[in-house]
Amino acid sequence: MSRLRRFLHGRNGFDALNIALLTAIIVVNIISMGMQFIPAIRFVIAAAFGSFQLVLLAAFTVRALSRNLTARNRENLAFINGLTKVKRWLKRSLPGDSGFRFFKCPSCRHNLRVPKGKGHIFITCPQCGERFKRKT
Ligand SMILES: [Zn+2]
Repeated sequence: MSRLRRFLHGRNGFDALNIALLTAIIVVNIISMGMQFIPAIRFVIAAAFGSFQLVLLAAFTVRALSRNLTARNRENLAFINGLTKVKRWLKRSLPGDSGFRFFKCPSCRHNLRVPKGKGHIFITCPQCGERFKRKT
């Protein structure tokens, strides 16, 4: 084994959370470069974004080189769970691009998802069998 491989053996390395941290560092870098063109706040921005990037980089390095895989795996899973919840929430709250409309069953309050643009249709609730008409 090469020295690098031996050094990285048994360490956390790249997981979803660390890839997200690296992406965040790059995004923060691009944003701060864009803001350099605003002379009045240039130095404040550079300091704020610079220290934020350092924090992200420190978190990434510590996590990547950590040998406590159980703890890092727990963090990674919590991150993925949180991300899934945010994605689900965005999908529901952003209008238009989901291709679905959401209704509550008038009888049992069950959440129902139907395709958009089908005009007036009858919807049958899979939970209680209630049938009601809605415009999609
Ligand atoms: Zn129902």
